[in-house]
Amino acid sequence: MKSDCIFCSIIAGDIPGQIVAETEDILVIKDIAPKAKIHYLIVPKQHYKDLQELEDCCLGSRMFRMAQKLSADNPEAKDYRLMVNNGYGAGQRVFHLHMHFLAGSELPEF
Ligand code: 5GP
Ligand code: ZN
Repeated sequence: MKSDCIFCSIIAGDIPGQIVAETEDILVIKDIAPKAKIHYLIVPKQHYKDLQELEDCCLGSRMFRMAQKLSADNPEAKDYRLMVNNGYGAGQRVFHLHMHFLAGSELPEF
């Protein structure tokens, strides 16, 4: 837990977050400023500042498994896009690793 980290604070329950799913080591919340009809953030409970810091292979794999489950559980999210911004220059603004899960409306080609 990093005291000045917004996602750590949500995970700790100190500030509110709209929780979509939870496992032992992952929390899924709704993005506060959605960029698609469905916009979730798949967030490891342990603080890693970005993808470069992640050394646990299996946690990355479990984040992908979570995306599969979010899709399988919601017909509206059959087609989806996953995105990780790594570093400020790539658009990362919250420095606690997270994966964007976007779905529910036709997404523009990337
Ligand atoms: P990044 O740009 O770092 O890849 O994505 C950060 C995301 O976190 C953004 O899409 C932004 O809307 C979202 N976000 C920022 N602050 C909060 C917050 O306090 N609660 C939630 N649920 N999402 C947030
Ligand atoms: Zn954090």
